[in-house]
Amino acid sequence: MSARLKNRILCRGVKVPDELKTGRKSGAGPAGGRYLELDRSVVNAPIYGFSENSPISLDFFDGSYHLSENGNRHPAGLVGEPSFYAEKTSDGIPMKKIALQHGRECLATTVCQRCLYWRTRSECHFCGIELSLKYDTTVPMKNPRQLAEVGAQAEKEGFKHCTLTTGTPNVRDRGAEVLAVSTEAMKENTSLKIHVQLEPIDRERISLLKESGADTIGIHIESLDSQVFRTKCPGKAHQWDNYWEAWHDAVEILGDNQVSSYVIIGLGEREEPTKKGIERMCQSGIIPYLVPLRPIKGTKLENALPPSPQTMLDHYMHAIDCLKTYGVNPTENLAGCVRCGACSALVDFYEESHAF
Ligand code: SF4
Ligand code: SF4
Repeated sequence: MSARLKNRILCRGVKVPDELKTGRKSGAGPAGGRYLELDRSVVNAPIYGFSENSPISLDFFDGSYHLSENGNRHPAGLVGEPSFYAEKTSDGIPMKKIALQHGRECLATTVCQRCLYWRTRSECHFCGIELSLKYDTTVPMKNPRQLAEVGAQAEKEGFKHCTLTTGTPNVRDRGAEVLAVSTEAMKENTSLKIHVQLEPIDRERISLLKESGADTIGIHIESLDSQVFRTKCPGKAHQWDNYWEAWHDAVEILGDNQVSSYVIIGLGEREEPTKKGIERMCQSGIIPYLVPLRPIKGTKLENALPPSPQTMLDHYMHAIDCLKTYGVNPTENLAGCVRCGACSALVDFYEESHAF
């Protein structure tokens, strides 16, 4: 039941009282949201833009928060801010500029906040990575010591895992080396499980990430429709043919259930190639982390709308059939987006499908 509500929240957003609109409106990752607890799950609920017209609202009464929709109420909670947001690193940078809380217990950071595709005006249309710099909410490059200090502090507060992502700094290693050094620093100073995210890279560099301590990897194709991929991700369009080999190598190196890819629904993709791609991914041991488009203010898709909850539901159900058929289990993923789960209802539907 709550998987369906979470799906509607991710697609429609939530109207929240003005005093709760304190988060980032724009920037890297799935900005423009508020983390809400929903039963045992957590959801990165969109609260700006299209969310103003959502049929779902968050209200406070009788001493607690509830989500209201068409006269129905569902208990909800606010995920509180971690204490490290008020602290600084030993070199005086606010820890909040180094890494953020994602979901409930996931620390997340964009190690290199620049992407070469922004230099050539060929950035992915949904991406707001460099907008975070424009709004001065982060620094261009996080060094290993800063990451280790924030990681150690976050771990003391109960964080369990960490997402290290990066823009593509160069075509030589596409950020693998900076992620490897960052992962090593986190592993030496914390016991957080580490998820790394980047473009397709060669087998040696996937091994380098594994040796540095990475537990899971996300190699994000964004769209399984080649036409949409080429149009909406023009900078990395040349990578289309490299995903399958990189995913295959990653499964061999990182192991079962530890390789995933964002699949954004709502970019104009065709249904047939999308569903075929999802099946082929599961068959190859890769978790298709399905997310509805999150239109970020300041990006080329800022005025687009997420897909309908029914469209997402249809894709989730297909993906879950495929995950089960090919024996891929997203609940065994150790770190990062799949374990956090705040931006997708995939794992919620997967778990519910086993409950009956
Ligand atoms: S590759 Fe695309 S999504 Fe990734 S940081 Fe660069 S522009 Fe953004
Ligand atoms: S699912 Fe990934 S991007 Fe979304 S909040 Fe969690 S860690 Fe961040």
